[in-house]
Amino acid sequence: MDNFVYENPTRIHFGSGQIAALAEAIPSGARVLMLYGGGSIKSNGVYDQVAAALAGFDWEAFGGIEPNPRYDTLMRAVERVRAGGFDYLLAVGGGSVIDGTKFVAAAACYAGDDPWAILAEQAPVREALPLGCVLTLPATGSETNINAVVTRAERKLAFYSSLVRPRFAILDPATTLSLAPRQIANGVVDAFVHVIEQYLTYPADARVQDRFAEGLLLTLIETGPKALDDPNDLTLRADIMWAASLALNGLIGCGVPQDWATHRIGHELTAHFGIDHGRSLTIVLPALMQARRAAKRDKLLQYAERVFGIDQGEPEARIDQAIAQTRAFFQRMGVETSLADAGLDATAIDTLVAGLEDNHLLPLGERGDIGSAEVRAILEGALR
Ligand code: NAP
Ligand code: FE
Repeated sequence: MDNFVYENPTRIHFGSGQIAALAEAIPSGARVLMLYGGGSIKSNGVYDQVAAALAGFDWEAFGGIEPNPRYDTLMRAVERVRAGGFDYLLAVGGGSVIDGTKFVAAAACYAGDDPWAILAEQAPVREALPLGCVLTLPATGSETNINAVVTRAERKLAFYSSLVRPRFAILDPATTLSLAPRQIANGVVDAFVHVIEQYLTYPADARVQDRFAEGLLLTLIETGPKALDDPNDLTLRADIMWAASLALNGLIGCGVPQDWATHRIGHELTAHFGIDHGRSLTIVLPALMQARRAAKRDKLLQYAERVFGIDQGEPEARIDQAIAQTRAFFQRMGVETSLADAGLDATAIDTLVAGLEDNHLLPLGERGDIGSAEVRAILEGALR
């Protein structure tokens, strides 16, 4: 494994009733802007719990952050922060609200002319407001990581800064009981793909990271379908919430090669065709495994054996089975696994490839050898 520096200072408050910990987690005297989404927190009681915990603070709320948070909405929040003199942000929601709040934290302190440069030009973030979060949808790992993804028109772009890592994250699995099956599934497969992208590369002699990754994959395969079948089982939600957080908190990515091609291509599917984030990934991943099977051969065989128990037969047949089992897991979660499933055909491919080219996001892959032609081949493999 390669050298690495690992730090994840986000303080996690995990379990039932932990929203009350907000009162201690936010510094006293802070002037707090609480940011949330389309209103799920008002119907499931989370808003009221947060309001009760914030009773001792000077705070206001900013709602309306949409899934795949939009730049214009976030810039309205930036105006609100500046006009109101807020000095602490609290995100309450899923990955979109947390990512959006990270951007607001950086943009509100941005010294240049236009904070869009943070996304479009990767302008360095030199200062950001402190933020904390209450997570209501296990999926992205955004609650303790340094990443954020923002959409503007048909561009979906990411930025990274340790300055926007949440100071604390409240993970109460009970808040996730109100999720629709579609969102449970989206979250489980997003977390699954996060693990795969830090695992399914080439062997890196990182036995600890491999075993952690395999443990998370096995946990998601076990608990995801059960959570769909028994939506009231809080123990399953707790495991899914913790697994999704560990999937992208930096730990399993220490010192190992990474391949974020599925996410990058998936972002184009969301930006151009409005496909949910999780489902954009399950459309791409089986085809990517197939197209990259030579480059990923050793790890595909390890994945086949340790995650699906496939240890008999010719190596190529074992890889075929592992890809088929991956697709079967996604289908069990009720998500799309091809462009056709999502109502798209070959005419979409030019748009998707052009999106990656125009945003200067190529090449991709753990060896940087996935260019336009390779993306096109992956998408052709994803047609059906
Ligand atoms: P989301 O977009 O935050 O939320 C999806 C939907 O779920 C929203 O309609 C939301 O409604 C609803 N919802 C959230 N919590 C709920 C609850 N407890 N009960 C009922 N409904 C609830 O979903 P997400 O998958 O967490 O985030 C996706 C975004 O994160 C994408 O933009 C993706 O690109 C990004 N992402 C970020 C990272 C990262 O490392 N930062 C990694 C992967 C993906 P309300 O709006 O009404 O709350
Ligand atoms: Fe993701």
